[in-house]
Amino acid sequence: MLDPDLKRRLIEIVGPEHVLDSNEIQLAYSYDATPGFQSLPDAVVMPGSTEDVQKIVRLCNETKTPIVARGSGTNLSAGTCPLHGGIVLSFQRMNRILELDEENLTVTVQPGVITQTLCDYVEQRGFFYPPDPSSMRISTIGGNIAENSGGLRGLKYGVTRDYVLGLTVVLGNGDIIRTGGKLAKDVAGYDLTRLIVGSEGTLGIVTEAILKLVPPPETKQTLLAVYDRMEKAAETVSEIIAQRIIPATLEFLDQATIEVVEDFAKVGLPTEAAAVLLIEQDGAPEVVDRDIQKIERICRDMGATSVERAASESEADALRTARRTALSACARKRPTTILEDATVPRSKVAEMVGAINDVAKKYGLSICTFGHAGDGNLHPTVLTDARDKDEMARVEQAFEEIFRKAIELGGTITGEHGVGAMKAPYLEWKIGKAGVHAMRAIKQALDPNHILNPGKLFYEPEAVTGEVAK
Ligand SMILES: Cc1cc2nc3c(=O)[nH]c(=O)nc-3n(C[C@H](O)[C@H](O)[C@H](O)COP(=O)(O)OP(=O)(O)OC[C@H]3O[C@@H](n4cnc5c(N)ncnc54)[C@H](O)[C@@H]3O)c2cc1C
Repeated sequence: MLDPDLKRRLIEIVGPEHVLDSNEIQLAYSYDATPGFQSLPDAVVMPGSTEDVQKIVRLCNETKTPIVARGSGTNLSAGTCPLHGGIVLSFQRMNRILELDEENLTVTVQPGVITQTLCDYVEQRGFFYPPDPSSMRISTIGGNIAENSGGLRGLKYGVTRDYVLGLTVVLGNGDIIRTGGKLAKDVAGYDLTRLIVGSEGTLGIVTEAILKLVPPPETKQTLLAVYDRMEKAAETVSEIIAQRIIPATLEFLDQATIEVVEDFAKVGLPTEAAAVLLIEQDGAPEVVDRDIQKIERICRDMGATSVERAASESEADALRTARRTALSACARKRPTTILEDATVPRSKVAEMVGAINDVAKKYGLSICTFGHAGDGNLHPTVLTDARDKDEMARVEQAFEEIFRKAIELGGTITGEHGVGAMKAPYLEWKIGKAGVHAMRAIKQALDPNHILNPGKLFYEPEAVTGEVAK
């Protein structure tokens, strides 16, 4: 329950209509897109400006009240689950595009802007913002920045980090810092912009962002390569890169995923295939033509049973949309869908996919694997039922084995979804004790009272999962 004095002071800052603490609201904000994590906040507060956020953070720092920043709650690492109660800071009101600077190729936005809205806005004006997480129709720029989200275009264009030039951030003690700017070069001290990007709401609250834009590609072409053996598809990924071609998109779907996606999206995917690759190249027409021809040849040489170009933009869009729906399609099959994010060097994709299949067999689980294969970023997705304790124990063992394998192959426990509460037990596997120690020291310096998103990144064995905790 929200302390009455704290509630009164929050209302003084944002007004009564922006401090919500009914049971329904608490329940609605007690979970995010991550299965198995739920915990009630005391209230949801909706700031309208950086100054509001500063006042709220100062008040929470004084009263040691946890603050969980929240965009749309689509994260897959329990990053917005308020494990320690406190307030959820929702950016629904701070959703404005503040400035398009055509000379400097930048756009300045508030954190609550929906990713797709931003992409559409700049595209209508002849610019391009490439980061495109599959959740872009719902996710916010604040969430994308805090998770350093990737997307289908990540292989060629990079991830969110590569487009964040400057940030306005409220730190845990209420100080406001402005990092970077509309600058192509800036080495004035530590790179605080990069520190905040991907910090999952644990170091500061982002209240404004200056993002880099690029000219839009002149044209693009899309093709679908079909395989009767998954290894051949994975080997094609390595071969395309080895031949020094960087496609805009290089996505992988295994047989189990093709079936569920086709059942859901009905775009004519070959359900008997062992795997498909969705490949896209963009740029100047002659470059696209040349690359697509080479890619077609490589796919055939590597054993593709068919390689088809999309005949029209609407056909290409249907394929892209089908890929983006993979998680939703999986979610229709069984009560619980747990999607993971193991990432390996591109050259190890084939080995990693094989290992995931072995793990699925060993533990008797149904795992659909899809993902940004060109980035080595795979999403093994278990279709399961959280009520089946025996199966859930096997799911946990299976994921541990998958993470260990990814690390053994030079990879990581998460390529784009963040650590949150879900991966916190495994962070040390990836960065070692000294790495965790260094990260804790940074946390201590910027958020001395640990009010910002407590329980995330750093493992707390007592962290609450699975049921409403308060
Ligand atoms: C169907 C589906 C597909 C997805 N596809 C992709 C994909 O292709 N690539 C990918 O990378 N991810 C993907 N995701 C994961 C998720 O969408 C991303 O992590 C996204 O960036 C989260 O945005 P959000 O607005 O929902 O943030 P939230 O989930 O609300 O928050 C995410 C994190 O950001 C923090 N945060 C939010 N706003 C702020 C702020 N203003 N200041 C500081 N911290 C803040 C939160 O505390 C939390 O730690 C997918 C998720 C789903 C459900």
